[in-house]
Amino acid sequence: MRHTPTTPDAGTAEAVDITGVILAGGAARRMQSDSTHIDKGLLPLGGHPLIVWLLQRLAPQVSRLLISANRNLPSYRRLGFPVVTDIHPGQPGPLAGIHAALSAADTDWLAVTACDTPFLPSGWVSVLLNEARRQQRPIAYACDSEREHPLVAVIHRSLQPSFEQALTEDNRRVRRLYRRHGAITVRFDDDTAFFNINTPESWQQAQRLISMPCGSASAPPSSSNSPGSPTSTQSSSPDTSSVLHIPPSSILVSTHPSTQPGPPVSLPCPHTPSDTPPESSTSFASARTMASSWPVAPDLNNATLSNATLGLPGFDPNAVSVEQARAVFARWLPTVVGVEPLPLADCLGRTLAEPLTAPFDLPPYDNAAMDGYALRHSDLDAGDEHLLPLAGITLAGDAPAVLPPGHTRRIMTGAPMPVGADTVVPQEEVGLITAASADDTAGKPMVRFGTKVRAGQHVRLRGEDMRTGDVALPAGRRLMPADIGVAASLGLATLSVYRRLRVGVLSTGSELLQAGQNSTVEGRIYDSNRHTLLTMVTMQGYQAVDLGVLPDQPEALQQALHDAGERVDVILSSGGAAGGDADFIQQVAAMQGEAHAWKLRMRPGRPLIVGRIGQAVLFGLPGNPVAALVCYLFVIRDALRQMAGATPQRPLPIRAQAGCAFDKRAGRTEYQRIRLQYNESGVAVATPCGSQSSAMMRTFADADGIAVLPEACGPVTTGDWIDVIPMHGLLV
Ligand code: AMP
Ligand code: MG
Repeated sequence: MRHTPTTPDAGTAEAVDITGVILAGGAARRMQSDSTHIDKGLLPLGGHPLIVWLLQRLAPQVSRLLISANRNLPSYRRLGFPVVTDIHPGQPGPLAGIHAALSAADTDWLAVTACDTPFLPSGWVSVLLNEARRQQRPIAYACDSEREHPLVAVIHRSLQPSFEQALTEDNRRVRRLYRRHGAITVRFDDDTAFFNINTPESWQQAQRLISMPCGSASAPPSSSNSPGSPTSTQSSSPDTSSVLHIPPSSILVSTHPSTQPGPPVSLPCPHTPSDTPPESSTSFASARTMASSWPVAPDLNNATLSNATLGLPGFDPNAVSVEQARAVFARWLPTVVGVEPLPLADCLGRTLAEPLTAPFDLPPYDNAAMDGYALRHSDLDAGDEHLLPLAGITLAGDAPAVLPPGHTRRIMTGAPMPVGADTVVPQEEVGLITAASADDTAGKPMVRFGTKVRAGQHVRLRGEDMRTGDVALPAGRRLMPADIGVAASLGLATLSVYRRLRVGVLSTGSELLQAGQNSTVEGRIYDSNRHTLLTMVTMQGYQAVDLGVLPDQPEALQQALHDAGERVDVILSSGGAAGGDADFIQQVAAMQGEAHAWKLRMRPGRPLIVGRIGQAVLFGLPGNPVAALVCYLFVIRDALRQMAGATPQRPLPIRAQAGCAFDKRAGRTEYQRIRLQYNESGVAVATPCGSQSSAMMRTFADADGIAVLPEACGPVTTGDWIDVIPMHGLLV
């Protein structure tokens, strides 16, 4: 039994002059649960998206390669191969993908495979192609002992008009069309090679399969062998009436058993490569090289939000816990910003893109930690006062001197320790005896030391702070003044930091007035969320982009979101997220990209729209001002840090005692605005500060912190210990 591969395998087959297409444009209906929309090509398997498994198998076998996809096009394009979309978008299904690829292919033959068969053998293209040519058929496709695999096929380009006609006539059955053209099947005896990921269960099964140690992989149901090349083993029970054996491989070829093969089709001569390579061949060559040595492509693994939620235990979009939301964002969101060099003086609040390693020891030399006298500790008599003659002075900035044996030397803080000295005695702890004194034996001043001198005291040793090569600051650190100081102490004038994340903020609501506008009509209020959020994101070091106020009108929202999707990295909207009659954010965003309406198990801040429009990630916050801000602080804040390249950071809570009873319902995390005071025993005591209504912003402004009452917690009684996040820790 052959070992199931644990990583995509580039395969060893020789490339023939044929265009390969990987069909990744399907709707993956059997993978779906609830409102999620799975994009199978981007599903992770063993650390790689499925599309990468297929690319690595197909790229070495073909001379050109296309990806057929209809969603998440930027993710597919990042793989470096041309992406074709259905020409007949109203006609979903593999036939439309094959048709699009036949229309785009510029070789005589097209090798078709689907994105959900990651274990295909490496030589199948030439096997099918040889058989099709030998028997002069325009289509050859694979089968195994149990079933046919029409999406592992080679198809002649001359059939493009026929595929076109089938689509316009709404005939979408692939096999029926194949039959009409006298397709032949080629039998592979290695059934597992066609293992197909169609359902969440089969995806899990594939994951189990690749994680098994060599030799222990049990085949998936419906198969008797593990994946491998078609030449690996003998067919178990060839049907000799319709199957013929092709030596030296064990691939078995038959004409399609259920159809009368038509007369052999006259095919053009095999394509001969032209002298001048086609325009795309250089990029193909580099993409193919890239595909064959692909490292993990982690930023594609969860390219869609649906994929990121798939397999998350207990995930329900209508009851998402705060922890689950954070986990989804951690899986889904890549760092989106590039890196730029910046003068140190401009780096405050920016995020370090590369770790800073110390280019030398710090301190760079042993030096005095106090103003005083340097000496050899061994020159002192244990337990006795002692006199040593004074031998000069070293100031900060002087070169290190040499201390003669039996002497002491005056030294200032930061000055290099004299060679030979190992201890500094502070000037306040010595007696200085002038040259005229009786003890002056050598005509020099003498210094008297007390009895309590510890060897090595008040000396800062070379490398004590950091040694050459130590990480002084890790990548992802949001730079605060002390970090700037560390970088400066290493002599760095410029740091490599991430570009600032562009965060666009817009408010939605037909009731909203702009500050400064006069309200003449009843029923209008001033927009506050945009200002809160713009200043909040500015405070967190992002580039805030004001996207204005929009009425609750789908057309206006559509235009604004579309434009924003091209301008910013993140769109923060507020309002219109709760599913009311005039709440359109999810609906409008879903038409342009991906958008899901979640209900969070938190209060305030239950509704949240999450999605992607163009290049931007969309977070649609609730409209109530406190709900919007709490949702930002406790759910979105870390997601933005991640996108900006910064390490997520949880503000440290302090433990406080409840100063009174708090209303709290189990089953959701509650964030309550509180005041803090120390009582006579020095214990921090928290009391709610006025109204906890999600519409009342003033009590937020007055609060010292937010009490975080976890899901499991019910009503809080006086004296209970609770976690409080001080406000200043939250805002930076
Ligand atoms: P919504 O989420 O759109 O249903 O709004 C919920 C509540 O928040 C309503 O009372 C809105 O008037 C209010 N609201 C929505 N957006 C804002 C905003 N930008 N500034 C102040 N209040 C708002
Ligand atoms: Mg509204």
